[in-house]
Amino acid sequence: MTVDSVLQLKCSCNQYPWGKKGSESLAARLAAKTPGWDEDDKGNRTDFKIDEEKFYSEMWMGTYPVLPSYVLSTGEDLQDVIDKNADELIGKGVMNKFGHTKLPYLPKVLSISKALPLQLHPNKELFAKIHSKDSEKFTDPNHKPEIALALTKFEAFCGFKPLDQISKLVHLEPLKQFLPAVQKPSFDDMTLKHFVNTVLKADEDTIAKVQEELKKLPKDSFGGDSYIPDLIPRLQSQYEKTDPGTIVALITMNYLVLDPGQSIYIPADGIHAYLSGDIIECMARSNNVLNVGFCPAADRDSADLFCSVLTFSPHSPDEALLKQQSYPGSASGKTNVFKPPMSEFNMLTTELGAGEKETLKPVKGPGIMIVTKGAATMKAQGKDFELKEGAVFFIGQGVETNYEAKDGLQMFTTYVE
Ligand SMILES: [Zn+2]
Repeated sequence: MTVDSVLQLKCSCNQYPWGKKGSESLAARLAAKTPGWDEDDKGNRTDFKIDEEKFYSEMWMGTYPVLPSYVLSTGEDLQDVIDKNADELIGKGVMNKFGHTKLPYLPKVLSISKALPLQLHPNKELFAKIHSKDSEKFTDPNHKPEIALALTKFEAFCGFKPLDQISKLVHLEPLKQFLPAVQKPSFDDMTLKHFVNTVLKADEDTIAKVQEELKKLPKDSFGGDSYIPDLIPRLQSQYEKTDPGTIVALITMNYLVLDPGQSIYIPADGIHAYLSGDIIECMARSNNVLNVGFCPAADRDSADLFCSVLTFSPHSPDEALLKQQSYPGSASGKTNVFKPPMSEFNMLTTELGAGEKETLKPVKGPGIMIVTKGAATMKAQGKDFELKEGAVFFIGQGVETNYEAKDGLQMFTTYVE
């Protein structure tokens, strides 16, 4: 008997306060379509329905235990189905590479109405050190590169600005106090690290005062970064005026505004904070994070730990952008691929017009696919599947899929090999 390798999923959406309200949240709208699942007050699984008073942040697709996906037709946990048929669904190659039968990546749809915590995801080696001290907090021995692909206009702080640009800004009068007492002839990454660490550790009055002083400076004192004084009040309205994230993000980090279809890549240990928009995000299977800003003081991790882990890549807006490439597994050429470096997954983007067709050749590893717009018929393993907005499918290794769009189709497929 052949194993069913194409499984439609029921996914759920969580409710962090930075999410968008009710049906303004694309994550919630997509989760409501199939429908996905939710839990009632007694912990029973129910169909996902949007409550217009709640804030919906992330729809998760995959097998991470915090918010797993279930098979639509049977209600089984997707990971249980994979474990029973690991050879057929995941494949020996991927099992040997990762040493387990878990899905090695976690795609999400995020709907962001205000800044997410200023954060980084610790890499494997540093994690091993931290893990022995704090095994409650960090539950996954995994590094965590991340990509974020814009579905709507997407604002993000990602990596650091070029050093010469940061050097000019940190020498503005209100910020000089965060520089080392003895300064090197040129502003380098160690000085940048000192600056970030000192801002993160500054007392609340200092942070609030510096932000007020920055707001009063003439716009042209910020050089090419004239958005800084405009963004201060906006960030202050989202979090406390005493949040150090505002200064770190505006002074040292790249501020990017992406159009739909553009993507950024964040390496393990890379500093980032997303500000607004709807995106598809994918990361390695891990939930490790260090937060130091854009969150209540009680939720912040140690500035020293954060800075000891921090990487200085990317170091310009261009380095942060990830370009798509043509995908050799596409028969029609209407599917492109994002390949994050050092990563455990790639992401395919498929855009079809009305009546257009696509065939995706089999890959030697599992995939998760989501339809974000339009409708189509998918043929796989001799069966027909109706695709519509919000449909999420698990596609086992070695399966060819054929698509014929109705009025058009936009879908995204994450896979490993
Ligand atoms: Zn992140």
